[in-house]
Amino acid sequence: MKVIVIGAGVVGVTTAYYLARSGHQVTVVEKESEAATLASAGNAGLIAPGHSFAWASPSAPKELLRSLTVEDTALRVNPFKAPGMAIWGLRFLRECNAERATKNTLVKLRLAQYSQRMLNQIAADERIDYDDIHEGILYLYRDPKRFAAGIEKMKLVQEHGQKQDVLDADGVVEAEPMLGPVKHKLAGAIYGVTDSSGDSVMFTRKLQAVCEGMGTKFVFGQGVAKLAAGSGKVKAAMLDGGDSLDAEVFVLSAGVHSPRIARSVGVRLPIAPAKGYSATFPIKRNGGPQMRVGAVDEELLVAWCRIGDRLRMTSSAEFTGYETSYKEHDLRLIRKLAGDLLPDAAEYDSGTYRACNRPMTPDGPPILGPAGHDNFYINSGHGHMGFTMACGSSRIVADLIDGKKPEIPVAGLTLTSRP
Ligand SMILES: Cc1cc2nc3c(=O)[nH]c(=O)nc-3n(C[C@H](O)[C@H](O)[C@H](O)COP(=O)(O)OP(=O)(O)OC[C@H]3O[C@@H](n4cnc5c(N)ncnc54)[C@H](O)[C@@H]3O)c2cc1C
Repeated sequence: MKVIVIGAGVVGVTTAYYLARSGHQVTVVEKESEAATLASAGNAGLIAPGHSFAWASPSAPKELLRSLTVEDTALRVNPFKAPGMAIWGLRFLRECNAERATKNTLVKLRLAQYSQRMLNQIAADERIDYDDIHEGILYLYRDPKRFAAGIEKMKLVQEHGQKQDVLDADGVVEAEPMLGPVKHKLAGAIYGVTDSSGDSVMFTRKLQAVCEGMGTKFVFGQGVAKLAAGSGKVKAAMLDGGDSLDAEVFVLSAGVHSPRIARSVGVRLPIAPAKGYSATFPIKRNGGPQMRVGAVDEELLVAWCRIGDRLRMTSSAEFTGYETSYKEHDLRLIRKLAGDLLPDAAEYDSGTYRACNRPMTPDGPPILGPAGHDNFYINSGHGHMGFTMACGSSRIVADLIDGKKPEIPVAGLTLTSRP
């Protein structure tokens, strides 16, 4: 079949891959001049099923409320900068109870575990090196009380198949010798033994080349302005320049921009942008131990990993609309983390920075599968875990298009199977 995929982030390109592999004639339409330039370019590089916890949790409303008055919260909302989020916000609040948080976390976890398997499979089949490191991820705690609470919280994912070890400060240093000099600041960590990390831009662009080798066409520098539909089907993608492209199937994977495109054919997608900040620094070559393990500081909610000879760090989630500007002040959590825990890891004067938007659904799992029209499929809304969940999501969407039963249940992932 002739298929158009809209968006060439990690989600769009992995979708194109599975579709091309099963023999479809695929065209990917991307507004920017190359693949993986928005969220897929700024992420922390963590492949982290162990971090599948839904953001909509019993403690989230308090954290968001606090962000209206104090500056130090990682999760923030500014109602003046993000008007029009009322419905999304109400749906988010509805998910903030223990029962729904558990259910949503387990939907994400199942997808993330499956997706990591698919990612490893693609990398092996297509011989893609993406500066991947398979040494686990450390979820670090400084405060003993929070550490104890973290141990309790993490039991949920452990009971559902995630291998995690509880480490004291000595154990942390054994896993990541770079943290030796700051051992006294750490209460301990939960070590996600099977989590991994890598460069999502490198992965996406190498996979793009594989797709091109299978005949997939990439149209860059042309956005889809809207879709045209009739008789229960999407008929064409109308491009910004005035041209139109027709196909038998359309897959929407435009990240935070998916809702606007879906609306043109009457489909409402609850996906909102949650802005994060991303910094990349050259690793310091000081003859000391090489950083091995990706990590998340569970108190500052700063994530990091080594990507080749660079250190990537990310922070914050701000519901402040679609813009992606940043000021030095916005990087304060990253600077604090670097000073506190990794003072000698990188050349902090030579950083490059960006802000980008996570495509968040109110409940947490992405939206996969058909929507509103027989031949219209969504693969969007992967939030803070799109690199982790892309390959599995795309395999599921390709299976649904091919009329095959996906390998994992899709309850909680399709539009029709969620509240
Ligand atoms: C700070 C930060 C840290 C993160 N850390 C992690 C992490 O450690 N691990 C993890 O798994 N995930 C992480 N994520 C999340 C992950 O990066 C995203 O979920 C993922 O990149 C989403 O991929 P995507 O392809 O859906 O969206 P995007 O990468 O945003 O791609 C969407 C594409 O659609 C294109 N597009 C938009 N509109 C149109 C149009 N009209 N026509 C054609 N094309 C269009 C865009 O140009 C873009 O290329 C992080 C995100 C952020 C912001």
